[in-house]
Amino acid sequence: MVPSSYDPVALTQALVRCPSVTPADAGALDVVQQVLEPLGFTCWRLPFSEPGLATVDNLFARRGSDGPHLCFAGHTDVVPPGDPAAWRFDPFSGELADGAVWGRGAADMKGSIAAFLAAVAQVNAADGPSSLSLLITGDEEADAINGTAKVLAWMADNGHLPDAALVGEPTNAAGLGEAIKIGRRGSLNAWITVTGRQGHTAYPAQADNAASRMAKGLAALLAQPLDTGTAHFDASNLEVATIDVGNPAANVIPAKATATVNIRFNDTHSGASLSRWLRETFEAAAGPAEIRFRISAESFLTPPGPLSDLVADAVAETSGRAPILSTSGGTSDARFIKDYCPVVEYGGVNATIHQVDEHALIEHLIGLRQTYAALLTRFARTWGAR
Ligand SMILES: [Zn+2]
Repeated sequence: MVPSSYDPVALTQALVRCPSVTPADAGALDVVQQVLEPLGFTCWRLPFSEPGLATVDNLFARRGSDGPHLCFAGHTDVVPPGDPAAWRFDPFSGELADGAVWGRGAADMKGSIAAFLAAVAQVNAADGPSSLSLLITGDEEADAINGTAKVLAWMADNGHLPDAALVGEPTNAAGLGEAIKIGRRGSLNAWITVTGRQGHTAYPAQADNAASRMAKGLAALLAQPLDTGTAHFDASNLEVATIDVGNPAANVIPAKATATVNIRFNDTHSGASLSRWLRETFEAAAGPAEIRFRISAESFLTPPGPLSDLVADAVAETSGRAPILSTSGGTSDARFIKDYCPVVEYGGVNATIHQVDEHALIEHLIGLRQTYAALLTRFARTWGAR
């Protein structure tokens, strides 16, 4: 049963009731598709797979073929709820209580999708963008391999690339109108292994202490700040996530030590430049080490301009607040979209995302629908005239 496409609350409930923990879809994309088709959208289901990974379903929907073309991007998959007994309500109940919809995904980001669908239904097609599309993936929270990146490649192959994109991730800490994201920091993981020679702590000359060398190497990495920030980014930051030696004896010099380091970096660096810096700095202090890197995202920025102005104006008009232009937080699928067109992010409130008792306030869902509706009409009025 698909609820009224005008009601962002009922739509959020319907989406939360699909237990779409990645890679499961559990009917979530059907809910979106059943709202969009009567509104004149053509829908394509785009399941993708890779050897060794589960197949993940995605949805691309488009109305109108002439530009300017605006694309809304989001994800229907959610992170696991953990122990359901720890929740006030069943995490997939979509319960309505205390002025909020409760459940996994209500805030990240089924509520934003519901608000956008309701905005699309509310604005006459003639008053909205000449062409409007939605890229809704089921693979954002986990590997992000069979999702947005592959849908974008399909869109490029089939003449569906947009002129601008909005990602509906929840960008606000406490209330609507706080922040638009215009970029994101990059993220680099390094797995470090130091191998020495085991021995007696009383006879260090006959051993090579892997734990001591690890400590020196990590201290060198932490000795200097990576930078002091840039015009639109905070300073880059390195965190030691874990150090493991597993030596139960106080009188044994360990032969092996491992550590994991995560760096969130701004546009001063690239994943490659930081990998080089990390290896050189670590080995200069600690000696040879085995280091494996994974760059899960490069940093990116859509410089303040027409798109951020347009979104900021719609946010200000409907929330009464002037949002800041932020690049904080983790990464998002905007990192894939930025290769094709300008992209900014604006959505609901992220105070309870990935937590027990995740919920979205009804007043925020309704306010967000108003902002998205204002954005649709502003895009139609101003983008073609640029
Ligand atoms: Zn999300």
